[in-house]
Amino acid sequence: MTAPRLNPSLPHQAMSAITPQLSVGFTTQNNTIALRKRTLEGPGAKAVDRRVLDTFEANGFRFEIDKYICLGPRENDVERKVLGIFGGIHGNERAGTLICEAILLRFTADPSLLNGYELHIYPACNPWGLLFNSRNNANGTDLNRSFWTGSTEGETRILEAELRKQRLDGLISLHTDHKSDGLYGYTQGRQIGRHLLEPALEEASRILPLNGNSTPDGFHAAEGMIEECLPEVLRPPPALRGWPFEIILQTPGTAPMSAQVSAGSTAVIAILKQYRRFLAHSWGI
Ligand SMILES: [Zn+2]
Repeated sequence: MTAPRLNPSLPHQAMSAITPQLSVGFTTQNNTIALRKRTLEGPGAKAVDRRVLDTFEANGFRFEIDKYICLGPRENDVERKVLGIFGGIHGNERAGTLICEAILLRFTADPSLLNGYELHIYPACNPWGLLFNSRNNANGTDLNRSFWTGSTEGETRILEAELRKQRLDGLISLHTDHKSDGLYGYTQGRQIGRHLLEPALEEASRILPLNGNSTPDGFHAAEGMIEECLPEVLRPPPALRGWPFEIILQTPGTAPMSAQVSAGSTAVIAILKQYRRFLAHSWGI
């Protein structure tokens, strides 16, 4: 292997306050940089499969965008609900990537959490940004303002193709607000999003407080929830708007990383449980 021209260990130096288990690691192979593979063990490990979605070029390297597919058993002979969970679209918001890894560990330990679901988990949507602790990608583009705008950014094109293909029933995008001292979230699409986010925030608020500000991020919020957001964020194709629920979860960047990961993963698991309850209710079970 030729020596890389950039140093993948650089970001770790800036993360001295974070324990090694809570760092985002990358590996380099054949000039391709990819998120470090976590070893997944436990009764649910067979239900989890890692795939390379595609690669793009930046700084003379290829960067991989990976996904994990988690396939739970079907419930009541009904098609599995397909949900997408996205982390690290802003590279300086590592909690989202670590939350994805934390929930993968939860699923492998307790596969019943996957009952009725087909989950597609994308822990590192902006791998270059994660490597260099940058909100934007290598071209200085904020990827979370580039969706469905005709963007030519590699990451956007890869994720747009995936969003078209998967036809998700729901989408959860994980972010960190570095100025916030509490959790909050956004919902779009189906009304159900609000009914999923509310109990999830409540459960996660046992670990971290909710943001008490009425306008975090400049939008109006009630009990940590905002029901509007910019159209160019990572979200389903315009033709599907209104069908999948869309939730953006913001962890508070001022809190310790371990608490952000714990609260964020608790919120995601709570959303899955609550959505399953809604579905069971709608089937009259
Ligand atoms: Zn963000």
